[in-house]
Amino acid sequence: MAEDLNPFTIAQQQFDMAADLLGLDDGLRQVLKNPKRQLIVSIPVKMDDGRIEVFEGYRVQHNIARGPAKGGIRYHPNVTLDEVKALAAWMTWKCATVNIPYGGGKGGIRLNPRDLSQSELERMTRRFAAEIAPIIGMHIDIPAPDVYTNSQTMAWIMDTISMITGSAQTGIVTGKPLELGGSKGRNEATARGCQFVTRQACKVKGVDLKGAPTVIQGFGNAGSIAAQLLSEDGAKIIAVSDSQGGIFNSKGLNIEAVLKHKEENGSVVGFSGSDSVTNAELLELDCDILVPAALENQITAENADRIKARIVAEAANGPTTPAADEVLFEKGSMVLPDILANAGGVSVSYFEWVQDQYGFFWTEEEVNRYLERTMTDAFQSVHANAEKYKVNMRIGAYTLAVGRVANATKVRGIFP
Ligand code: NAD
Repeated sequence: MAEDLNPFTIAQQQFDMAADLLGLDDGLRQVLKNPKRQLIVSIPVKMDDGRIEVFEGYRVQHNIARGPAKGGIRYHPNVTLDEVKALAAWMTWKCATVNIPYGGGKGGIRLNPRDLSQSELERMTRRFAAEIAPIIGMHIDIPAPDVYTNSQTMAWIMDTISMITGSAQTGIVTGKPLELGGSKGRNEATARGCQFVTRQACKVKGVDLKGAPTVIQGFGNAGSIAAQLLSEDGAKIIAVSDSQGGIFNSKGLNIEAVLKHKEENGSVVGFSGSDSVTNAELLELDCDILVPAALENQITAENADRIKARIVAEAANGPTTPAADEVLFEKGSMVLPDILANAGGVSVSYFEWVQDQYGFFWTEEEVNRYLERTMTDAFQSVHANAEKYKVNMRIGAYTLAVGRVANATKVRGIFP
């Protein structure tokens, strides 16, 4: 039977595995499995040529038992409500894994941002912000960047909500530019968090990070900075890719030069002194560390037995399916699950939100120190749970996270 690749089905399967181990009763499962609130909006945009185009956007709040909903906004042609629901659920479990006082939310708009001019993107973002304004707020639901959105997108949202409310709403979004109350270290945070847990995994698996052949899929915020940071740790980055394809050199790539090439040419493809590989081939290269940093469903039942990496650090959300998880676990590969491996982004988003509320800002060194403690503690708790239940790291993380959210829900009780 073909594997079901619907991300929300996958998120529910992952939840069920942890709920079984924790012995959660049926009522509580229903509460925790389904999103609290889902909003679908139509976004009319006046295009540069005078036409009106209407886009569909979503904001989903999965759970707010432990604090306001938190999660990014994605612009991508394949965005669906089910994808956003899955991403929102993963945010709930991620915030609980690193023990920050947030629930989970996510947003998305189905479009290819490359088809819009910068001013069209701005008008679309502002109208989307106005459409979701009734359900976001610094104590309600706090958006952040995700695939094909960035600090400029957050600045437009912050400004739009500030204009609607008549006051500067710096805490309404995170991942903002520094000029608007952004945090030092936020841009690098997802990749840096991934670096911290990869270091821990290397210790457990006996992998020497210095010289470790490493492959990275996706060369945006998460992937390109992970490539830089891991190469600073001495890892040998032998292949990287983006949506156009991948590049490979068994002797290692000069990441600074690849970044420059991408800046000048819009893609890593064509980098001199490298061979071309497809995104599918890249995953199967002989390496110690594999960092998927693009999209969902990259490692599936179909290719899992050909994955050679001893450590898979999921900078992306949802890159590995449950069936692939089983294959990798049996092979002895350690998968650092998304809800742990990419939680550095939301952790520093939390630090940003704390700084905004105090109006007092930390140094980059302070941010990174707190981040290292958060990620290292989370790795250790997840690893201890994985050993306790004799399960992979993903289910170890889910038992930790689902247990925390279930306990919060129980002590709050069900309203009314
Ligand atoms: P980004 O927009 O900065 O970069 C996305 C990268 O993926 C680009 O290099 C793009 O070319 C590449 N890509 C797109 N489609 C691809 C495909 N089919 N095959 C290979 N590469 C492809 O986005 P980002 O913020 O780096 O997000 C990447 C992943 O990391 C997503 O899964 C996102 O949810 C996750 N993530 C990001 C953050 C964050 O703070 N930015 C935090 C947690 C998780």
